[in-house]
Amino acid sequence: MDGTTYLSDYRPYPFTLDEVALRFRLAPTATRVTARMTLTAREAGAALQLDGEELDLISASIDGVALTPADYLLTETGLTIHPAALPEGRFTLETEVQIAPAENTALEGLYMSKGMYCTQCEAEGFRKITFYPDRPDVMARFHVRIEGDLPVLLSNGNPVAQGPGWAEWDDPWPKPAYLFALVAGDLRATPGHFTTMSGKHVDLNIWVRPGDEDRTDFALGALQRSMKWDEDAYGREYDLSLFNLVAVDDFNMGAMENKGLNIFNSKLVLASPETATDADYERIEAVIGHEYFHNWTGDRITCRDWFQLCLKEGLTVFRDQSFTADMRLGPVKRIEDVITLRGRQFREDAGPLSHPPRPDHYREINNFYTATVYEKGAEVVGMLRTLVGPEGYRRALDLYFERHDGQACTIEDWIKVFEDSSGRDLSQFMRWYTDAGTPHLKVTDSFSDGVYTLEFTQHTNPTPGQMEKPARHIPVAVGLLSPNGDEVVPTTVLEMTEPRQSFRFEGLASRPVPSILRNFSAPVVLEHEAPAEERAFLLAHDTDPFNRWEAGRVLARQTLMGMAEGEEPEPAYLDAIGALLGETNDPAFRALILRLPGEDEIAQALFAAKKTPDPDAIHRARRGLMEVLAKRHEAALARLYEAAAVPGPYTPDAGPSGLRALRLAALSLLSTRDGGARARALYKAADNMTESLGALAVLVANGAAEAELAAFRARWQDNALVMDKWFATQLSLAPPAAAAGLATRLAEDPLFDWKNPNRFRALMGGLSANHAGFHRADGAGYRFYADWLLRLDPLNPQTAARMSTAFETWRRYDKARQGLARAELERIAQTPALSRDLGEMAARLLS
Ligand code: ZN
Repeated sequence: MDGTTYLSDYRPYPFTLDEVALRFRLAPTATRVTARMTLTAREAGAALQLDGEELDLISASIDGVALTPADYLLTETGLTIHPAALPEGRFTLETEVQIAPAENTALEGLYMSKGMYCTQCEAEGFRKITFYPDRPDVMARFHVRIEGDLPVLLSNGNPVAQGPGWAEWDDPWPKPAYLFALVAGDLRATPGHFTTMSGKHVDLNIWVRPGDEDRTDFALGALQRSMKWDEDAYGREYDLSLFNLVAVDDFNMGAMENKGLNIFNSKLVLASPETATDADYERIEAVIGHEYFHNWTGDRITCRDWFQLCLKEGLTVFRDQSFTADMRLGPVKRIEDVITLRGRQFREDAGPLSHPPRPDHYREINNFYTATVYEKGAEVVGMLRTLVGPEGYRRALDLYFERHDGQACTIEDWIKVFEDSSGRDLSQFMRWYTDAGTPHLKVTDSFSDGVYTLEFTQHTNPTPGQMEKPARHIPVAVGLLSPNGDEVVPTTVLEMTEPRQSFRFEGLASRPVPSILRNFSAPVVLEHEAPAEERAFLLAHDTDPFNRWEAGRVLARQTLMGMAEGEEPEPAYLDAIGALLGETNDPAFRALILRLPGEDEIAQALFAAKKTPDPDAIHRARRGLMEVLAKRHEAALARLYEAAAVPGPYTPDAGPSGLRALRLAALSLLSTRDGGARARALYKAADNMTESLGALAVLVANGAAEAELAAFRARWQDNALVMDKWFATQLSLAPPAAAAGLATRLAEDPLFDWKNPNRFRALMGGLSANHAGFHRADGAGYRFYADWLLRLDPLNPQTAARMSTAFETWRRYDKARQGLARAELERIAQTPALSRDLGEMAARLLS
């Protein structure tokens, strides 16, 4: 396809670039950027190609001599200097350009957010700042001078000098341009420090806009915990004497790991008990960890090209997941991660956007910051760790840092490190990176003469552009339980490498109950027919916490699938929930089991079972099951609700968070019995956002939140992050028939500042999370959504394209809905002057 980039076309850059000196003279609509680079040709006769977009070229010179138009070619995408104009050996190129940060609505490159200048350069934003080889394998030392009449002027690395209206920064670590950052504004710091394991002192600052300083303490603590954890778990120490972290209100993604100057979406920094939920606190700590951990896995060792994105992202997600597991409750974190993986990545893999963790072509790289690259990328790292064991993993990572520090690497380099440190052949394992699709693993069992046999077959459906799916190397963790609940075979990792394979367990006194794919040892769909009683047994007795939860999840899902097709609820499931309510098991764990699978998960499961999901029937089934559970267990739920009240002042720690989650899960069920009375009382009494928002959500789901929604808006209208919750909550949980109308009304609210990505996501994400509302039979949900994607696209293509993934499931539904969704996608695809971002997405969604 025209404009497509292919992995197979990779060529090293024909010049070396040692140093770059940048000078910024800031002005909202006329910022001047001077870039001085020292370059040396590696190949005789090569032209010097520099990327550049939306730049006004003011001047260019080589070794102090101005270039004339005959020396170069200037296009929409860059500047090419003819070989004849290049001296032999080392030379200095200096360019000056003008840009307009105040007019940059795409939030890529240098832009402005509420009077503050900031940058976002990953993946290819630096080319909107100056002419440069904007590719991750070109690494240089940056020296930066900023001039501007703002009190705080920041860039990467160490401050070298400053005066009124200017500052100079030096980053001693060579880096690719995507890690460059600049921030200028009226900002306030929350200072802190950290002493590294070798005794070096590091100054830390959390920078925010005036007025936000009282919500930064948690972020600072999270940064300090991250720094300590990376030393303890990976032996990695911080490598500068300063670490700055800045919060901005307008940001397309979550956060960015720029060297020594991380830039964050303010929703992932600012937190106080009154404004942030337990889930927000957990996520803030995780993302601060994530960006900090990138310092070694991303910055010190970076990617050779953007096809290798999961080299840094999969590994860094795996690291942040382990960090959270250590800070909070490991098994609970694992279950949450698998819920996310299935909800986002399995969903992506089952539709037209399916791609391998390492894709081999793209039109717009911004479209590949996906659940597959991030979350599946992390699962693949987890499988490597399972295969070589914890010590083997640490040895491999030590070798990775030793061998590749300072380099731009590939997935092949990464796999080689595991092969060299473990002596294993991982060529088949490599398919996890190169092949798309979620394998289905079917298992049957048999028992005779004390021998128990598990037989597995694996199968992966074709995905776009990949019809053949050779067998993968799958680690399957298995344990066996005796009928009285004792573990007769502890967790054992079986390695599946063939399309069909059996494993024998000898010397068993009786037929065991298998616990398969413990801790979710591989990102596969397990197909295992078992009676409901056996699942209830595992829910009560499995020694693997993940599989205890999983047994309950499968029961709940099957019950809901049946109910959506008119069947009665599964009695074994209803009984099992009763037993669970009486337990004293960890509250967070019980809360997870009480939380029913979402409507999208039920639709996904019905589709996988070759049925056509009916969104309205699914919605009714889920409400219906809540009512049945509440009626059946009302007294126990009511007792639990009272007992789970958290005493004392709010803290976001795992213990009290788990109690609150359990209490809110009980509240949600009880609200089908008490008309929302308890929720209304909790809303009034709550002194923290977790309970206010939790109670509000329950009331919204019962269609009885009018007064509370108005009160919430009146109280929080000046707090953007809290108002995002107001938009998202009422829309995602509204009765489906009302959702499209509500979305239309909310879009007319003066607080719907649609150019702010968080606000846009709150409203559109709220609508698409309302499964039956978005997939309304008359197409009103699709139409509203497509209208807004088209409106945002000319201003902010990256966010418009990301949000288009709401359509990735359109082929699951009935012909009439398919026709309506397809019509909207075709309308998008045929829009003139569509961005490359949304254009690629629409084409893939329709393919
Ligand atoms: Zn990342």
